[in-house]
Amino acid sequence: TKVLLTGGSGFIAAHILELLVQRGYEIVTTVRSEDKASQIREAHPHAKLSVVIVPDIAQPDAFDEVVKTPGLDVVLHTASPFHFNWSDAKTELLEPAITGTTSILKAIKKSAPGVKRVVVTSSFVSMLSVEGLQDPNKVYSESDWNPNTYEDGLTGNKVAAYRVSKTVAEQSAWKFVAEEKPNFDLVTICPPLVFGPTVHHLSSLSAINTSNERFVDLVQGKWKNEILPSIGVNLWVDVRDVALAHVAAFEKPDAGGKRFFCTAGKFCNREIAAAARKNFPELKDKLPSEEVMGGDYPAVVPGYDNSRATGVLGIDWIDLEKSTVDNIKSLLAIGA
Ligand code: NDP
Repeated sequence: TKVLLTGGSGFIAAHILELLVQRGYEIVTTVRSEDKASQIREAHPHAKLSVVIVPDIAQPDAFDEVVKTPGLDVVLHTASPFHFNWSDAKTELLEPAITGTTSILKAIKKSAPGVKRVVVTSSFVSMLSVEGLQDPNKVYSESDWNPNTYEDGLTGNKVAAYRVSKTVAEQSAWKFVAEEKPNFDLVTICPPLVFGPTVHHLSSLSAINTSNERFVDLVQGKWKNEILPSIGVNLWVDVRDVALAHVAAFEKPDAGGKRFFCTAGKFCNREIAAAARKNFPELKDKLPSEEVMGGDYPAVVPGYDNSRATGVLGIDWIDLEKSTVDNIKSLLAIGA
């Protein structure tokens, strides 16, 4: 089986790549620069792996050439901006997310007839609503959709814009398969905050991916006197489970045509701090002691139903303590 993985330099994609290598798949992965390409080649010298440069996924023809790779069976599309370091929502966030998704689907339909399944990395942000997050009785599942539209992504609110980028990208993918009836079926993976060890190359800890920023703050002593408030979405999942979800999504025939809410459950920053304190006594000077305030659960944490992902994809969710320990070990190895 030959698998195309977009955005191979990313935090989540690097774990997908490791799992694909372990399972002996032939892999083609795309990155934006030669620098990242050579880092990936060096990390996997013995893999059946080729790394291709796709400089700008916002171009409608971005993937036209790479999908012509002979023998492709599966495509995993993970590349999409997840950071708040942009000034123009349309060109730097919405277009790469949305056009990136539609252009790869069009290219596969046109030039990769052997592809039978496409897995798109979506997000819990494509399921949530601002009102739902405040409702103590709400239980989120795959039937929920973020009601925001493209225009809501252009108001200047960066968090809302990211949520829109993922929502419209995922909706465009489902619309494409419904209307175009291509040679492949679709699976989407919807994780909330993804935590866990870093296995991709980082130039420095300041280049950490967005969802792991809090762990860098923790090991650098920024929670020493007050734990960061647990605001936003207090649901999480370990990156290795997200990687497994992507691979199971094409290995398991029954996954076809489905969305999967991939979450291990609830967390608050106070629990992360406690797991760190218990397992890393040598970091005592950096970590908050038990008496330090902050980081408790907010008044309302979204309810969740992850039974479809547990059942169909067969995931035995990694717990927060293990995820935190392995994450911190990886940060210490990088130089925290
Ligand atoms: P990373 O920032 O580590 O990875 C993002 C990937 O997308 C990188 O490979 C990056 O390339 C690529 N990318 C971003 N913008 C562009 C662009 N304009 N053109 C080409 N490539 C681009 O984050 P994650 O690994 O966390 O994110 C991977 C996917 O998972 C994304 O689709 C994200 O929305 C989704 N997701 C992440 C969650 C999380 O908590 N981490 C939660 C839910 C969904 P480069 O390395 O060159 O920057």
